[in-house]
Amino acid sequence: MNKIEEKIIRLRESLHYHSNRYYNDDAPEIEDYEYDMMMRELKELEEQYPEYDAVDSPTKKVGGKADNTFENVIHTVRMESLQDAFSKEEVNDFDKKVSDSVRDKHYVVEPKIDGLSVSLEYRDGVFVRGSTRGDGDVGEDVSGNLRVIHNVPLKLNKPIPFIEVRGEVYMPKRSFERVVDHQLLNDEKPFKNPRNAAAGSLRQKDSKVTAGRGLDIFIFNIQQIEGEELSSHKQSLDYLKELGFNTVPFYKRVDNIEDALVEIDRIGEERGNLEFDIDGAVIKVDEFSSRDVLGSTSKFPKWAVAFKYPPEEKQTKLIDIEIAVGRTGVLTPTAILESVHLAGTTVSRATLHNQDFINEKGIAIGDIVTVRKAGDIIPEVLCVNEHNSDRTYTFPTHCPSCNQPVIRENDEAAIRCINPECPAQLLRNLIHFCSRDAMDIEGLGPAIIETFVNEGLIKNTFDIYNLDYDKIATLDGFKETSANNIKKSVEKSKANDLARLIFALGIRHIGAKAGKLLSDHFRNMDAIMSASVDDILEIEGFGLIMAESVVNYFSTNSAKLLIEKLKESGINMTSTTEIKDNRFAGMTFVLTGTLPTLKRNEASKIIEGFGGKTSSSVSKKTTYVLAGEEAGSKLDKANTLGIEIIDEEIFMGMTK
Ligand code: NAD
Repeated sequence: MNKIEEKIIRLRESLHYHSNRYYNDDAPEIEDYEYDMMMRELKELEEQYPEYDAVDSPTKKVGGKADNTFENVIHTVRMESLQDAFSKEEVNDFDKKVSDSVRDKHYVVEPKIDGLSVSLEYRDGVFVRGSTRGDGDVGEDVSGNLRVIHNVPLKLNKPIPFIEVRGEVYMPKRSFERVVDHQLLNDEKPFKNPRNAAAGSLRQKDSKVTAGRGLDIFIFNIQQIEGEELSSHKQSLDYLKELGFNTVPFYKRVDNIEDALVEIDRIGEERGNLEFDIDGAVIKVDEFSSRDVLGSTSKFPKWAVAFKYPPEEKQTKLIDIEIAVGRTGVLTPTAILESVHLAGTTVSRATLHNQDFINEKGIAIGDIVTVRKAGDIIPEVLCVNEHNSDRTYTFPTHCPSCNQPVIRENDEAAIRCINPECPAQLLRNLIHFCSRDAMDIEGLGPAIIETFVNEGLIKNTFDIYNLDYDKIATLDGFKETSANNIKKSVEKSKANDLARLIFALGIRHIGAKAGKLLSDHFRNMDAIMSASVDDILEIEGFGLIMAESVVNYFSTNSAKLLIEKLKESGINMTSTTEIKDNRFAGMTFVLTGTLPTLKRNEASKIIEGFGGKTSSSVSKKTTYVLAGEEAGSKLDKANTLGIEIIDEEIFMGMTK
């Protein structure tokens, strides 16, 4: 094999790997720009050396695939990708090719929303099915999850016979911040950027999870339509609006490519101020008749091009490194920078990850560094351009908050303070303890907790239940009523279910879900405290690290004291929930046909046990039709209404 062929094969393998991480695992390892540059290199090599061309090359395929989690949907109109341009010259080249084939054309310029592409189908104005793009030909049926997105209309303003539209599901920056905060609090791995968060949230088995993620959608195309004649893109966007769709914002029709380039600059300038991420601007030929003449390749239409904004990078001076101590004692370094304007925002802080990252880049205070803000919301230091000193920054050996020695555990990148009385950890722990998913103490938000800690009202978590409300009423900004309100929510929290309390303790690796499993399994605090690693491992979903973490936590004197004090204050220490959860709450099932093993009343009992309802007829309100053999008209009705049909195996899977 010669060098060129080797290079081509390596590029294909690498693109295949990263495409899988991106589309199927929602966990990219490299920046989009890097991926795009690799793709570009491969494309150029394939053009230059056609003898090594291959039909299954990533340059010819639309990324992604439909997996088995959801039913497959065959797209009657292919959901294509877009060709990209990284410079104005490339946009001009696109215009030349278009102009060679069609005359008297106009362009429409739109922001390119960084989310994931979906198709929505409506019959007689009613939403019947929604699916992901997948590989462009076959996607996944995610109707249930699309239904819970506020801006997906379930009924259109006009009952047109049939329409299939295409749009981009995205996660607004606000929702992304909230979801990531929540993940961090639960010790879960946070999503890397809003695009991956949107994809991960839409492909959930449980629509309730999707509903809680705050997704939104912009519609940008009509794929198929019956009952209406449209002749241009601009006209169809206006019509989509009339039907009640949230169409892609600030699109503009222009006369020529020069005006389109002006529009691209304008969208680029707005980029940082938008409530959602965009990764480019799309230029589309407006007239449908011209589009027909131009046609498509195997991957994208020849009548559109996506101009991709390069990730914004700027050089600046690193003036300091700040070390913060997290709830679990991890020390995280943040670069304090001389402010620079980057992707629409002023950046004066950037993440430095950990000591390994700092060593790898040789970062020292006073260096001139490059900062990048790509899809990610948090800017990062990319590299050092000018070293100010040869001495790479090293982490403090003592905690900046409590001055106790810090340690680095085997195999961990993190450096940690393990002093249980560290004030920085206390504050973080208190914030977590009172947060919504934990003890849910309304009124005790981060700022107020910090005030109480500074005033000496709280020195340990259990002090929350012995607050001096007379003193609080005299504090700046407080009155008797506000002190009383805090008292009321503190008192209310005493009756919380045990699951909340376990999560609130902030045990490493124990998120809200694990807290619930512990509570459901052991039923009271004493049983959890005396459980061995083996006892805990009996719970499905628990691994060794989690079980050991629980046992280690309760073996410390500080944890024992905390529980004792909480008991003295009258905090509930038992599970108040029924053993089964409410996973089917708000859902209606219709049973039809003969199920392979379950009798109808058995299936109904299971549904009700999980808080769901059964009904004898299929309507728009039906969530699932559970169908067995010889299912009749109910199945047809479910199909017409686009209701999800499941068999016994899927149903039993949902109850595990
Ligand atoms: P694309 O994202 O570049 O463009 C096509 C998509 O743009 C369409 O699917 C469509 O849904 C969307 N879009 C958003 N707004 C639109 C609008 N107004 N009009 C038309 N379409 C609009 O192409 P792709 O094939 O989906 O994916 C390639 C992208 O994914 C690249 O940006 C690439 O960098 C990224 N990627 C990254 C990695 C990684 O490891 N970082 C891996 C694979 C792919």
